[in-house]
Amino acid sequence: MSGTYLGMPSFPKAAHEAVGNTTLRANLKHATHTIRDKRAKAVAELDDWALLREAGKQIKDHTLRHLDTYLVQLEEAVTAAGGVVHWAADADEANRIVTRLVKETGESEVVKVKSMATQEIGLNEALEEAGIAAYETDLAELIVQLGHDRPSHILVPAIHRNRGEIRDIFAQEMGAWGRPAPEGLTDTPAELAEAARLHLREKFLRAKVGISGANFMVAETGTLVVVESEGNGRMCLTLPETLISVVGIEKIVPTWRDLEVFLQTLPRSSTAERMNPYTSMWTGTSDAETADGPRAFHLVLLDNGRTDTLADEVGRQALRCIRCSACLNVCPVYERAGGHAYGSVYPGPIGAILSPQLRGTTSEIDASLPYASSLCGACYEVCPVAIDIPEVLVHLREKVADQGGKGHRLEKAAVKAAGWVLDHPGALAAGERVAAKTRKLHPKKLPGPGAGQWTNSRDLPEMPAEPFRDWWKKNRT
Ligand code: SF4
Repeated sequence: MSGTYLGMPSFPKAAHEAVGNTTLRANLKHATHTIRDKRAKAVAELDDWALLREAGKQIKDHTLRHLDTYLVQLEEAVTAAGGVVHWAADADEANRIVTRLVKETGESEVVKVKSMATQEIGLNEALEEAGIAAYETDLAELIVQLGHDRPSHILVPAIHRNRGEIRDIFAQEMGAWGRPAPEGLTDTPAELAEAARLHLREKFLRAKVGISGANFMVAETGTLVVVESEGNGRMCLTLPETLISVVGIEKIVPTWRDLEVFLQTLPRSSTAERMNPYTSMWTGTSDAETADGPRAFHLVLLDNGRTDTLADEVGRQALRCIRCSACLNVCPVYERAGGHAYGSVYPGPIGAILSPQLRGTTSEIDASLPYASSLCGACYEVCPVAIDIPEVLVHLREKVADQGGKGHRLEKAAVKAAGWVLDHPGALAAGERVAAKTRKLHPKKLPGPGAGQWTNSRDLPEMPAEPFRDWWKKNRT
């Protein structure tokens, strides 16, 4: 996976800074609570939600088990429809392929549909180095790009910005990227949307190359699917002469029939809509002179750590993710820390299990991500493909602990000592009596740099006046 965000401090350090930003916390609280309430209502409308959730889980699991077969089927179908398939093992290879393809068209600018995969590999930066300007056309991505910022949410990348901040960004930055913002722009949503529409129209009409991701790829026909709310994706997918789609290999579904499930669960889970406003599907190239759509189509299939993730029996369920972002909107940790603290394009609960699997756990930030959770389980409850995120978090914590490190050595020694005491009931009983007798002398906080961390943010539980086993003997035997 790309090192774009590496070099970030560990999650606790980054989150500590973020929670001190009261504007950020207010923006996040307002946005996540609004979306989560709407989602709950949209989901409650369907009597068969639990069945749809189970069906989505099973389709994804089946596909992942036979991923090799379906990928080959997809390649054959895309090729038969006039497309060209490229295989990219990692971010560098994918960036090299896309850069070469754009250069071969002779163009020096591209328009982009919002795409997590291209953010994951740092494509915009790679294109910029090669002298190619990449223009984001999703409204929230545009705000992030103009603000020289980073996305902080899967679905609403500018969730950390309020209307006033967006107005300022548009007024100050649009002119440097193309059509400037209208004079006297206010922060009303309609005016902001109109400013973005005018700014982007110019780019849509000029661009010869479009770059997209895809929500799904249908193996049986070689069809790619993008679902979106604004219509900017459809413009990018139909106007340019060349379309390059960069898609993670796990985004495949075997048949059109399978889409039925996800086209119900994805919009309700993400934007709380019964169906998404724009569903664009394309298969290979458009040959007829009068037809809409690109004359050249390239599909870059991205691995970038996915086959390693697939090899992990517990962790592989993260590859079921359909990027709806429902888990972010209910997460108490995300709500307070914001997306940037996760140091990846995948923030929140899914980011805490996906990034350390795609990138490995050798960096400070990746080793800390499995701990960026209260393990409350709210993310699992809302996930439309039933990814047991808490299970994967605990599994990854075990992996990180096995890597060693000062904190983990102390923790292991403490657990080993506790194991010995629990194996020796006589010693445990004696210890409990001593502890009960001396309870008035116990400190509220543990001493020392290691153990002290446990009680920096929580009090030690109070010791009872007598051990339970003594109480039981007196009262029940
Ligand atoms: S893990 Fe589940 S809830 Fe979270 S983004 Fe993925 S599909 Fe949605």
